[in-house]
Amino acid sequence: MEPAASDALIDALAQDLRRQDPALQLVTAAEAGELERLSRDYHDYSPVLVQRFAGKRAQLAVLATGVEQVRLVAGACARHAVPLTVRGAGTGNYGQCVPLAGGVVLDVTGLNRLRHLEPASGVIEVEAGAVMAAIDQQLAPHGRALRLLPSTWRSATIGGFIAGGSGGIGSLRWGFLRDPGNLLGLEVVTVEPEPRLLRLDAAASAPLNHAYGTNGILTALRLPTTEAVAWEQLVVGFARWEQALEAARALPATAFLLNGLTLLEAAIAARSPWPAGCPAAADGEHRLLLLAAPDALEPLPGWLAARGGALVWQAPQGASRGLPLRELCWNHTTLHWRAQVSGWTYLQLLLPDPPDPCLAALRRRWGDDLLWHLEAVRQQGAPRLAALPLLRWQGEERLQELMDQARSLGAVLFNPHVLTVEDGGLGVVDADQVAAKAAYDPAGLLNPGKLRGWAAADPDTI
Ligand SMILES: Cc1cc2nc3c(=O)[nH]c(=O)nc-3n(C[C@H](O)[C@H](O)[C@H](O)COP(=O)(O)OP(=O)(O)OC[C@H]3O[C@@H](n4cnc5c(N)ncnc54)[C@H](O)[C@@H]3O)c2cc1C
Repeated sequence: MEPAASDALIDALAQDLRRQDPALQLVTAAEAGELERLSRDYHDYSPVLVQRFAGKRAQLAVLATGVEQVRLVAGACARHAVPLTVRGAGTGNYGQCVPLAGGVVLDVTGLNRLRHLEPASGVIEVEAGAVMAAIDQQLAPHGRALRLLPSTWRSATIGGFIAGGSGGIGSLRWGFLRDPGNLLGLEVVTVEPEPRLLRLDAAASAPLNHAYGTNGILTALRLPTTEAVAWEQLVVGFARWEQALEAARALPATAFLLNGLTLLEAAIAARSPWPAGCPAAADGEHRLLLLAAPDALEPLPGWLAARGGALVWQAPQGASRGLPLRELCWNHTTLHWRAQVSGWTYLQLLLPDPPDPCLAALRRRWGDDLLWHLEAVRQQGAPRLAALPLLRWQGEERLQELMDQARSLGAVLFNPHVLTVEDGGLGVVDADQVAAKAAYDPAGLLNPGKLRGWAAADPDTI
């Protein structure tokens, strides 16, 4: 897709913005490096996306610090018919915030206030650009914490997580972000010549949850929180994969309170960085990483030992040095591996239950070209194992072969090598997402080409 806006149109838009608010911070073509940075995220995990996103760049970026500035930018883009892509911290690994048709990138990290915490319920209202670690820091004195976190919790924004993430640490207890109950409401700016500021309830917010910012600009979110727990980090070693897998399946069905469960096969564990004081993995040692409540500490080592696991290291979260376990799981595992070994990519999938036949069949076919990293999650109320396996890159055909085989074995794929919202999810158009776009972005200016259902409804938009 070619940039939709001419240089003259972008200049006119910038002038319009400056005239309306001289304090508005703009990044223009004169700062090409900065524009490039603000057009990028972590999609370079995927060689396919690297190729498809080559040259996709914003023509102007705006750093907003308040809701009124967001409205101003939305209105100006609508009047000038310039594409607009919203950006949080830019940590997405599906290329969610890469502007496919150029235009404006709107950075909302300046909207970062925790507006309100309801003491009785723990419900919060927080601005979309707030970084999750900063939100948790403000909740801690009240004994509360966010329910779900990506492993990028230290840098990612809450709006970017809802718009572009899926789940992560805490998914073992709370499922996925789109599960009813995890998002209670949104404040949204529409993209129209006179933008509206709307407050949506939980039901009306659902179509904007995981829509990659294609059907409304989130300025604030209402979210439930959970009780703060002083999680303990445990690293457990297993000599046999089958035993480690069995423990990973059995633990979520116990009454131990866990917030994270990650299983790394030995080849990955051997190259993972570990917290200070945690020994490197021995040859052939598979590792189970747990975030467990303090009251699980006494019985857990015995429970694990009975299943072939030996406690290797333990420390309270927040009190260890080096990388915390929170940054050795989910897509941080992929990050660490790729930092050491070139020529690898990854997949994201939900394994069938039981997972053993699927894993065994894939292992037979792919051997050392596919290395297993599993995460425990709750899927529609039931404990399941998700996987973010590492894959030696051998081209698109081999990737497709692997995905076809995984699907035929009962796995559900969340393909991280595709452009659109739908193709990275279940592959089907969500009519409610498209209807929300018609209501809140009627000219289709929010990252055109990203919502396949909209493009299909209006071929002129691509
Ligand atoms: C090492 C690593 C580990 C990761 N681990 C996880 C994980 O555990 N779980 C997980 O779900 N993801 C994970 N991710 C992906 C990503 O970090 C998270 O989803 C993160 O929450 C995205 O937040 P962000 O602020 O970086 O959003 P961005 O990348 O800036 O944006 C993400 C999407 O949301 C849209 N968006 C951002 N803000 C708004 C807004 N205010 N209104 C409307 N749309 C908006 C953007 O347009 C884009 O489509 C990981 C990525 C990396 C690189």
